Amino acid sequence: MQTGLLNTYQKSVSNRSYIAWVMSGALLTFYVLIYFTDFFTPIAAQLHLGGKWGMYGTLYTIFIVGFGIVFLRRHGQTPYQRLRTLSIMFFQVVFAFALPHVMEMFDTPGYNFAYFWPLNYSAFYPSTIASQPLPFILYSMIGAFILVPVLTFFYGKRWYCSWVCGCGGLAETAGDSFRHLSSKTTKAWRFERYSIHIVLLFAVVTTVIVVTSFIFESRTGDEFSVVYPIFSKIAGPVKGFYGFLVGAILSGVLGVGLYPLMGSRVWCRFFCPLAAFMGLIQKFGRFRITVKDEMCISCGNCSTYCEMGIDVRQYAQNNQDFKRAACVGCGICAHVCPRGVLKLENKWDFASWGDAAGVEHVDV
Ligand code: SF4
Ligand code: SF4
Repeated sequence: MQTGLLNTYQKSVSNRSYIAWVMSGALLTFYVLIYFTDFFTPIAAQLHLGGKWGMYGTLYTIFIVGFGIVFLRRHGQTPYQRLRTLSIMFFQVVFAFALPHVMEMFDTPGYNFAYFWPLNYSAFYPSTIASQPLPFILYSMIGAFILVPVLTFFYGKRWYCSWVCGCGGLAETAGDSFRHLSSKTTKAWRFERYSIHIVLLFAVVTTVIVVTSFIFESRTGDEFSVVYPIFSKIAGPVKGFYGFLVGAILSGVLGVGLYPLMGSRVWCRFFCPLAAFMGLIQKFGRFRITVKDEMCISCGNCSTYCEMGIDVRQYAQNNQDFKRAACVGCGICAHVCPRGVLKLENKWDFASWGDAAGVEHVDV
């Protein structure tokens, strides 16, 4: 299972060498330019890519497909790694890239069916709702409040973070060479617990303020006229600040710019509000990683290559199955284990239910 894996990470670009620093600098510069300037607009126009965001979407898709092929060559020995990588490539090419383009050709605003609130933070802003057909608005609501929680409860957040999401898709493919750079320190874990939930709260509060402001606006003249000016004043700046800080700086500039120095899941681990929401559900759901008793030889491969900084070895040494809110179910810990100690499973916690039947295994 480990063929070609361990030496992958011995290349200098994967070990915070000067090449990694240069690459990180280049990525940070690229993201600052694309988010905050029109530097790429003429280049995109010359290439007929429909503006700088059209160019960005094209590049993003090329990277996921290209590095997805590299990933398959490195890790495609198991059905789990093969299937989830093909799934990531499919959702990026079809859902995130091709479908929105086809819709725009028919004068319908492009819509990414694989992108849910609060990751898609503007999904419920009145301006977005006004620009979308009713079925898409209903899909956004059903997706965010039914599909995401139910699938996460049954299958863990891996169904999204490692199989569907474009951010996770880039991390798993283009970011694969950097996955071992995630910090395993307790300090990082403490920071992650606060930062990711603060962003989730910020996303909820921003949406509530923007929606409430709109509702009050349409009801001026009655008892709401007293509070309306307050909401009306703060809605714009709060929305703008969220877009700047979370939508641009945390998810793009730092989220991808720091790949070569801090690993590929900086955004997913520390800041993604949808990951935070699914992590809360995952703790009560069926997904867990199980450990075969007395098999671990403490080599540490699992902890080293966990992109979410989870100390998997500690659980393995203690013969302890585990659920962690942060785990994105990439399966690499099981993939690199020389003793086949770890397994990703969806099963009820019958230890507490007093029944051991009905276990469903997912081999990795
Ligand atoms: S614990 Fe294993 S499956 Fe979960 S994120 Fe880490 S490497 Fe991936
Ligand atoms: S679980 Fe496997 S990979 Fe992790 S320390 Fe034990 S033997 Fe090594």
